[in-house]
Amino acid sequence: MGTAPASAPALAAAVDALPLVDHHVHGASTADLDADALAAGLTESPFPPAPGTSFLDSQLGFAVRRWCAPVLDLPAHVDAAAYVARRRELGPAEVAHRLLRASGIGHFLVDTGYRAGELLDPAGLAAAAGARAAEVVRLEAVAEEMAATGVGAGGFAAAFADALHARATGAVGLKTVVAYRYGLDFDPDPPTPVQVRAAAGDWLRAGGRLTDPVLLRHLIWTAVGTGLPLQFHAGLGDPDLTLHRTDPSLLTEFLRRVRVPVMLLHCYPYHRAAGYLAAVFPHVHLDVGLAVTMTGARSRAVVAEALELAPFGKVLFSSDAFGPPELHHLGALLWRRAVTAVLGEWVAAGDWAEADAVRVAELVGAGNARRVYRLEEP
Ligand SMILES: [Zn+2]
Repeated sequence: MGTAPASAPALAAAVDALPLVDHHVHGASTADLDADALAAGLTESPFPPAPGTSFLDSQLGFAVRRWCAPVLDLPAHVDAAAYVARRRELGPAEVAHRLLRASGIGHFLVDTGYRAGELLDPAGLAAAAGARAAEVVRLEAVAEEMAATGVGAGGFAAAFADALHARATGAVGLKTVVAYRYGLDFDPDPPTPVQVRAAAGDWLRAGGRLTDPVLLRHLIWTAVGTGLPLQFHAGLGDPDLTLHRTDPSLLTEFLRRVRVPVMLLHCYPYHRAAGYLAAVFPHVHLDVGLAVTMTGARSRAVVAEALELAPFGKVLFSSDAFGPPELHHLGALLWRRAVTAVLGEWVAAGDWAEADAVRVAELVGAGNARRVYRLEEP
């Protein structure tokens, strides 16, 4: 997979061959993308680039030209116009097929709750990648679908519990985007039934996205009752969120009240805070998905920082890819390169045994996800 030559050859070989479990990912797009659409797919910004600049002039843009171009039979570092022309010549289905297969991801745990209609569904993603896929259900999406069915305020709590139970059957985990809809500084206690009923009445009358903090807390506490791993978006994302309110340490009081596995997603630039939480709370885990992709040649630093305080059984791989299959490919490739380089450096310095480095890479890349989400062995 083109990872860097390393001072630890057994580690490099093991990381190259590892079928990754991507515990937070979205579907891939098979749309035909022109240069502007591709560039838009590589940023979390909903705005056009500043005049005279391009989103392709970024760590991620450079990584696409370096690492995705060869998968499309182009030289490394090819210019963006030639890359887009080749993409269109091959056709989006072939591009997705090549990039997904080359990622070496063996199992996708897919968040189906965001713009899923524009993307390959879990079965489509699995087929295109030659991999397996399972679903992670987004709480807010379940509530919003349910609201459209005409439920009343008095029946909201029971109807949500039923809807979540039905959707969660066969899913491996649940996810909340409370970081986007409110912030992680929510009241850590469950709301009372009276509060839920009043808030449901207000929201069902007003309609729109669910942003009410009482209802968001109710969704979260209903999810806790299932016992399934619960993913929290933390850290960077699009500007719907207010960054400093996505610091996962804001969850501390909530974490003291629950015992279900809590999966902190992305976390950057608060991945060190997340590492601390994973070190002191047995049920807390983290990843640096999306940050690895976005930081490109600097992703080694992010991966190294994620492995400072956190116990190695609490860190997971994810790509958080959404849309262009370049993101699925780079999430895996940049993670493999970073882990090989970072752990290899510690082996070369005499700090780590190479056998321990191989074991940790396999835990973070696949084993920890298989244990926490109770996935079957491949
Ligand atoms: Zn995501």
